[in-house]
Amino acid sequence: MKILESIDSVKSLVHLHKTANKSIGFVPTMGALHAGHLSLCQYATNNNDITIVSIFVNPTQFNDQNDLKNYPTPLQQDIEKLEKNNIDYLFLPQYKEIYADGYNYQVQENNFSTVLEGEHRPGHFNGVLTIVLKLNNLIQPNNLYLGEKDYQQAKLIKDMFKAFFIDTNIVICPTVRDQYGLALSSRNSLLSEDELELSRKLNHYLKSSTEINSIIKKLERENIKVEYIQDYQGRRLAAVKIGNVRLIDNIDISEFI
Ligand code: AMP
Repeated sequence: MKILESIDSVKSLVHLHKTANKSIGFVPTMGALHAGHLSLCQYATNNNDITIVSIFVNPTQFNDQNDLKNYPTPLQQDIEKLEKNNIDYLFLPQYKEIYADGYNYQVQENNFSTVLEGEHRPGHFNGVLTIVLKLNNLIQPNNLYLGEKDYQQAKLIKDMFKAFFIDTNIVICPTVRDQYGLALSSRNSLLSEDELELSRKLNHYLKSSTEINSIIKKLERENIKVEYIQDYQGRRLAAVKIGNVRLIDNIDISEFI
């Protein structure tokens, strides 16, 4: 696997493969890779001539500076995982190059980004949409792989591509969970043993009732602080805090009602 750090090196690599008519799959991540990320990688390698993964803990999407400071960054382990998964290129963007404009230019969506995650994390989706647009413009992939785990994010990115006539095809991949139903997340590594056990109840309780209020009561009885649980277009989306760790999940309501 080749590691690229500069925008110029990415541009010349993309040019090389485009002129050779090779299809490019792209998987943007913030690292601390787990089986969820690797499933996206697998979809990409199975369906494209070359796969590029990026790792960039994008500061502009963090509304909480402590969350940014504590975000796990096991780069060496990530590199080993990507090599084992036959990834061709790893792009490690540098903040100064990516935000040469000082983040003066931002993508803002004014509807769906203002509810759910957007309501609780001011500025979050501006950061997400801006970084995805920048990376996608550089890489110009045929296919971009996103996880359904971040349902609102995936929908906003899909709609942004439509709004700005971006040709890249978006592939939304199913949420990978552990054997107890907990959605895999880089932030899970920050949970203590007890907190991990508790976090496994989230998915279970989300499916336990049609009544959201009764779910909230059950979770809060367990000391799980609920930021929101809301049904939206056939899905139930939730954000909770366990200790200092914020976790999100979403499920298809039709699966259990
Ligand atoms: P992140 O590193 O958290 O920014 O995630 C990078 C990509 O991996 C995003 O498209 C996420 O939706 C996706 N992803 C994260 N966790 C999972 C999971 N458990 N299952 C499937 N995709 C995931």
